[in-house]
Amino acid sequence: MKGAWVTLATNDSYSLGALVLAHSLKQVGTTRELAILITPGVTNSMRTRLSQVFNLVQEVNVLDSRDQANLRLLQRPELGITFTKLHCWRLTQYEKCVFLDADTLVLQNCDELFDREELSAAPDVGWPDCFNSGVFVYRPSGETYDKLIQFALDKGSFDGGDQGLLNLYFSDWAHKDISKHLPFIYNVCSTAFYSYLPAFKQFGKDVKIIHFIGSAKPWLQYFDTETQKVRPSSDVGHLAVILQRWWDIFCSLIHPNLSPDMSGLAGA
Ligand code: UDP
Ligand code: MN
Repeated sequence: MKGAWVTLATNDSYSLGALVLAHSLKQVGTTRELAILITPGVTNSMRTRLSQVFNLVQEVNVLDSRDQANLRLLQRPELGITFTKLHCWRLTQYEKCVFLDADTLVLQNCDELFDREELSAAPDVGWPDCFNSGVFVYRPSGETYDKLIQFALDKGSFDGGDQGLLNLYFSDWAHKDISKHLPFIYNVCSTAFYSYLPAFKQFGKDVKIIHFIGSAKPWLQYFDTETQKVRPSSDVGHLAVILQRWWDIFCSLIHPNLSPDMSGLAGA
């Protein structure tokens, strides 16, 4: 079965996240291919860097949700871009894929995810009857892609982004088939580290994929180049160790290969 990890970047900043993610997948010894969807906003020099790590770099057009009112509600107008995610269903050269947001980091091998079926995903911490669309298992299919686009045009998305749309489309996820509920360790949102500390202490070592949700992305944190230590803007507890892991990958494997004009993209 030909399978691939798939991510998305519409600009160079998210591409840095995608590069770290790709290296994290290689470090845990995945046997699957790596694919990335990009839009015209990604520079040529960044495309060169991406093609050194990803097996496939595929340009797609930005598909906007055209739902400005909803998006404004979320205060995250840039999330309209995540409708571009739907293009991942068009990668039909693969039989099965796992989509990962560019703000995720893989800590342990998770190749077993390819044994799951479409659509498998972990609960969202804000509303656990919805799945979080930062990590999901799916089957590429031109037919599903067309249906998703049609669905998006007819029904829209209740949150203006891909998560609302995908949850409406795969609406039986909450109650139908427990095997499509991925354990939380496959998509641990970063806030869980300090909002439920006892659980973190009990289960933290099991975490396989961490997801830096919200606006505090790893590449936007303050990084001290002298000590090589990240200094998070607020007290993030044990998350600091994981952020440091992100930066260690960035400093050792990515930064040395960036062209000078790109080095200022991350950190301060
Ligand atoms: N994304 C992107 N450019 C953007 C915003 C989002 O490429 O300007 C992609 C990227 O893969 C990102 C995903 O869409 O990880 C979802 O957005 P984000 O992770 O910022 O949302 P959150 O997980 O914080 O809700
Ligand atoms: Mn995300």
